[in-house]
Amino acid sequence: MRVPMIAGNWKMNTTVSEAIQLVNEMRQGLDEIDGVDKVVCPPFISLAAVGELIKGSSIKLGAQNIYFEEKGAYTGEISPLMLADLCEFVIIGHSERRQYFNETGEMVNRKVLAALKAGLKPILCIGERLEENEAGKTEEVVTGQLRSSLAGINELGGIIIAYEPVWAIGTGKAATGKQANETIGLIRRNIAELYGEMIAQDVRILYGGSVTAVNATEFMQQPEIDGALVGGASLKASEFLSIVKQTSEIRVQ
Ligand code: PEP
Repeated sequence: MRVPMIAGNWKMNTTVSEAIQLVNEMRQGLDEIDGVDKVVCPPFISLAAVGELIKGSSIKLGAQNIYFEEKGAYTGEISPLMLADLCEFVIIGHSERRQYFNETGEMVNRKVLAALKAGLKPILCIGERLEENEAGKTEEVVTGQLRSSLAGINELGGIIIAYEPVWAIGTGKAATGKQANETIGLIRRNIAELYGEMIAQDVRILYGGSVTAVNATEFMQQPEIDGALVGGASLKASEFLSIVKQTSEIRVQ
């Protein structure tokens, strides 16, 4: 049985004091919900403060990005070793990083390798752009991104995959549960080809793209979908809590 996961990507939002306030608003409510892994991913500058606040709670911590070198003259970057001290998860290959910061498949692969080496669990994001979707290239793009991101990785470790169609991120235009389920099934079949059926049945694959308290149930009812990577809706405590609660009600017997 795969434990469902709801991860909140706060993106470039919240000052340190706002991050503290947000996690304080969520903490008690999240602690009352069982059977779901709850992860918050605040900006780097708030990781330490949020990490202190969630000690002893059921909330887990993730970062939004990582660099692939361990240390050195890379001004402004954050290394896997620094993050491994602070958090358990790290989002890698988010489409906003690919789009605005020119992250290539090769860089994503290096980041995944570096994160695993440092003992971090990557939340690896893959997904097709609108024009690729409309040209019927979803399968080709998603499969290509998956395989290039995992090049040279013999053991998946704690990797979590997030299928995030780019056209659904921050647009309010989510995929349907059925569409997301189909593509996630395809990703799982690729994992089975690469790592065997047992691993494929174990790996958690999330959906991301305009998940809200209104549509969460539709996604969580799908058998292949193991949770969600939530952007905008993770910035409101009540909305994030509702998504986690719906997940627990559907997925936890
Ligand atoms: C994301 O940032 O990964 C995301 C899915 O954003 P949103 O939920 O706002 O579409």
